[in-house]
Amino acid sequence: MSLRNSYYKIKEELAAACAASGRRAEDVALIAVSKTHPVVMVEEAALLGQVDFGENRIAELEEKRTATEKSLQWHLIGQLQTNKVKLLHEKTILHTLDRISLAEKLAQRFTPQNPIRCLIQVNCSNEPQKSGVSAADFFSLVDSVAAQSAIEVLGLMTLAEHSDEESVVRQAFQTLRTLSEKVQAQRIFPSYAGWLSMGMSGDFKYAIQEGATHVRIGSAIFGTRPTV
Ligand SMILES: *Cc1c(COP(=O)(O)O)cnc(C)c1O
Repeated sequence: MSLRNSYYKIKEELAAACAASGRRAEDVALIAVSKTHPVVMVEEAALLGQVDFGENRIAELEEKRTATEKSLQWHLIGQLQTNKVKLLHEKTILHTLDRISLAEKLAQRFTPQNPIRCLIQVNCSNEPQKSGVSAADFFSLVDSVAAQSAIEVLGLMTLAEHSDEESVVRQAFQTLRTLSEKVQAQRIFPSYAGWLSMGMSGDFKYAIQEGATHVRIGSAIFGTRPTV
């Protein structure tokens, strides 16, 4: 299938999933995950009207960001090492703030006048190999981040467990939504926007039903990636 056809197909599927959950299509943003794919594919998707793009490595994100239109919005959705914070552009949205040491580094690099926009990544399924703060440590991370006015927290992000069991996948999304509602109720972050970045090619339907505001979709748009 051409990129054009895959793109329109996924847009339709997103709209259908929103309709099935009684949600408006414009309330769920599509982040096109272009990792491993060349700049020309980003440009092709941009010509179809796509604005938000996600990458999981900062160097690759920077390569594509600097090679494409300034009007595109980039999202870093993979782990960021503290020694690479200097590579993070101020307009990029970081979905993977998951530890105090990273928050401290970000606070050194950015300023309250020119803050960095972030989502806190939560390991909702408590898988040992997975990044993200555990639900148990979530509120202590939240408190540290709240003390840093150079960080603007917009919402939360998670990756669901890879499972054929619908209830297992949904559980992670529900956990994220519940944490977000608590953050919102306690008015912890002045700029909090209730973003829930959750759902990928294989599980976005459940994520939308559970309240996702941003889905991160790669292979369903750009095709399968070369395995590394
Ligand atoms: C690669 C990636 C995605 C997209 O995955 P697909 O299954 O290709 O849609 C979403 N989120 C994160 C964090 C990723 O690394």
